[in-house]
Amino acid sequence: MAAGRLLVRGGPLWAGPGAYWPQGAVAAEDGWITYAGPEDDAPPLEGAQVIEAGGGLIMPGLINAHCHGAMTLFRGLADDLPLDVWLNQHMFPAEARWVDEEMTRLCSLLAAAEMLLSGTTTVGDAYFCMQGAARAYEAAGMRAVLMQGLIDFPAPGAPEPAENIQVCRDFVEAWQGKSPLITPGVFAHSVYTCSPQTLEAAAELCNELSCPWHTHLAETSEEVGQTAELYQASPVAHLEELGLLARLDAAVHCVWLGPGEAELLARRGVAAVLCPESNAKLASGVADVTGLLAAGCAVGLGTDGPASNNDLNLLGEVSLRSRLAKLISGDPAALPAEAALDLALAGSAQALGLVGVVGRLQPGYACDLIVLDLDLPHLTPLYNPASHLVYAASGREVRQVVVQGRQLVKDREVLSFDVNEVMARVRELATKVRAG
Ligand SMILES: [Zn+2]
Repeated sequence: MAAGRLLVRGGPLWAGPGAYWPQGAVAAEDGWITYAGPEDDAPPLEGAQVIEAGGGLIMPGLINAHCHGAMTLFRGLADDLPLDVWLNQHMFPAEARWVDEEMTRLCSLLAAAEMLLSGTTTVGDAYFCMQGAARAYEAAGMRAVLMQGLIDFPAPGAPEPAENIQVCRDFVEAWQGKSPLITPGVFAHSVYTCSPQTLEAAAELCNELSCPWHTHLAETSEEVGQTAELYQASPVAHLEELGLLARLDAAVHCVWLGPGEAELLARRGVAAVLCPESNAKLASGVADVTGLLAAGCAVGLGTDGPASNNDLNLLGEVSLRSRLAKLISGDPAALPAEAALDLALAGSAQALGLVGVVGRLQPGYACDLIVLDLDLPHLTPLYNPASHLVYAASGREVRQVVVQGRQLVKDREVLSFDVNEVMARVRELATKVRAG
């Protein structure tokens, strides 16, 4: 953890919607923000570590509310397929063969490097063998809500489905309160791969341990058809009929919601996490973001796994999500820039239970911030930083990254671990995956 004082100064500051200063500064004490505003009014420097933004844009770190980080190993292994074929014929067999705790540690480190270098400081990651992932994110210094996967067939680290819930319990108990930046939880894969009994057990465990619970929900029309056949209900109605919807913290995808279901999610306090690039690549459909927001639903953004996206760059999601909202509605005013950007900040923070901690640069919040280079042709000139972030930036402009007051990226170089070594080891592992 970072101790002491930090001052970030020397560039424009976009601290959240409606909070912009052409020359700003952020000060922090022991990892928590004490000042964010015009540089001229910043508190005295004495003894502070200073990060010079060098004219770069200072802004809150992005929050990726849903991914499967360790799937970096399977990036590009199988593409251009529908979800069921991709999942059942390619991903599940590859996972059964290659996923263990060392794989998730190594490949989650690679994911952490990719996310930090594209401005993500907080991640919601759901996968198997999460002990390895937790060690990786802890070593990387990222803030992470890590959810152990739960599914009704043999899975890596849980060969007996009956023991899956115990694996979740073991993971949550091992990491709860262990590391200040890591929150453990449970991820039920979906209503079509988890029986009502499994979902009930997940909800019960999360109640008992007071930990987050997420699931994929209403991702494809096939899922809607399957759930109708099995339970004579839509995916959302199925959870509601089981009495579990109110316990769920976040529903990932929400592409195929029935009439009134956005309102129901809002009433039950379930956040929707949208993953537009993955939904587009798998041709699953487009979630109705403006409908969800109008219904009062909290809406966050995620990249989903790097095998269905194929990257972990959250600004790409913001850009696509904004453009899709306009395209689908026929209204260019739909989801304007600051609102789109805020899905990856306040919306994702809500989905991960981190409201008031991350997503803004203001006193009392954690000092999780990024500095983006603006001295680039595609970001010149600058009238409106939110516009650049949503419509022009690529995510590769990130120069500095700070999490809880600790600098993790300096001049585009990850400080907390050796990225070259991680890439070399993942390439080695990929050679074995390729050989089959
Ligand atoms: Zn997913």
